[in-house]
Amino acid sequence: MNADISTRFIVEKTQKTRINEVDFDSLQFGSVFTDHMFECDFINGEWQTPIIKPYQPIMVDPSLKVFHYGQAVFEGMKAYKDDAGQVWMFRPDENQVRINKSAKRLAMPEFPKEWFFEALDRLLVLDKEWVKPGKGNVLYIRPFIIATQNEILASPSDRYKFMIILSPVKSYFRGDVRVVVAEEYSRAADGGVGAAKAAGNYAGQFYPTNLAKEEGYEQVIWTDDATHEYLEEAGTMNVFFRIKDTLITAPTSNRILDGVTRKSVIEIARANGIKVEVRRIKVGELVAAAKNDTLKEIFGAGTAVVISPVKSFAHQGVDYPINQPEETYGSRIKKLITDIQYNRSEDPFGWRYKVSVDNY
Ligand SMILES: *Cc1c(COP(=O)(O)O)cnc(C)c1O
Repeated sequence: MNADISTRFIVEKTQKTRINEVDFDSLQFGSVFTDHMFECDFINGEWQTPIIKPYQPIMVDPSLKVFHYGQAVFEGMKAYKDDAGQVWMFRPDENQVRINKSAKRLAMPEFPKEWFFEALDRLLVLDKEWVKPGKGNVLYIRPFIIATQNEILASPSDRYKFMIILSPVKSYFRGDVRVVVAEEYSRAADGGVGAAKAAGNYAGQFYPTNLAKEEGYEQVIWTDDATHEYLEEAGTMNVFFRIKDTLITAPTSNRILDGVTRKSVIEIARANGIKVEVRRIKVGELVAAAKNDTLKEIFGAGTAVVISPVKSFAHQGVDYPINQPEETYGSRIKKLITDIQYNRSEDPFGWRYKVSVDNY
């Protein structure tokens, strides 16, 4: 099943860039795409010649398996430009391993590591003008795999398409959010696909999240499906709780996505003298900490926003405001991580990846 990695990429460049039509100051997250995209089909048990071509629609049959059975996985990554114009990625090796782990869980073929990196390097060098330098400017990278067999028999597809599309975004501070702790619905069940970045995990949480929004909350903090007693994650972000001076986050499991931001927060916090406990944490412990004012912070951690502070949480109809200190761990950790991402600081952990086509 391994592709012959000596196969040359086909690169078809656009005739005319669309970059001048884009207003980079008012980007709606994930709605504008760069000039090029990557495409590679899996047919007859093998990944075919990788292609980079102008961003364009794909023509597909209505019987495509992904439409009927949801065999689809994805990744979310970012590229950053430093002041010298060099483009960087953050821990892309983690995303490469994870998309194949997700693919395996959904009975999909793994994509070769060498091609994953070559596709990213080539695409990002071609579209490097779309990565704007300066604070808050970033290029969101969306690799994904879908089942492309034309057949509605309920079985794994024998054809797949791996693609990468790129979207310039502006990361802005959208204010502290209000969250509600899940008591009825679940994002993931034990033994299910919660640990995979499967498209269907998102579909399943839209409805309960809409219900929460109607009540005035921006996000749901999911709890374990069996008891709803343990805090798990936020559904697009992992979640951290600061009680007194200790950061607490749930251990990953087959229900919780193993976030790259989460593991980076844990490492960087520890390296900077912040105590981190990776352990199960009960809603009751959080409520008690809020009541005796030892709950100092809650924040989400994920690629899209890095750190997203929470200003209150609700449980059993009661709102618990969080009395944040002036100097939060969240903002301190966010600065340490973004300084590494934008090449503004040393990289003691070796997390930065220099985008280049010199090796191909
Ligand atoms: C992508 C994702 C995260 C965050 O992962 P990062 O690698 O940090 O971006 C957290 N939870 C879920 C369910 C996700 O899909």
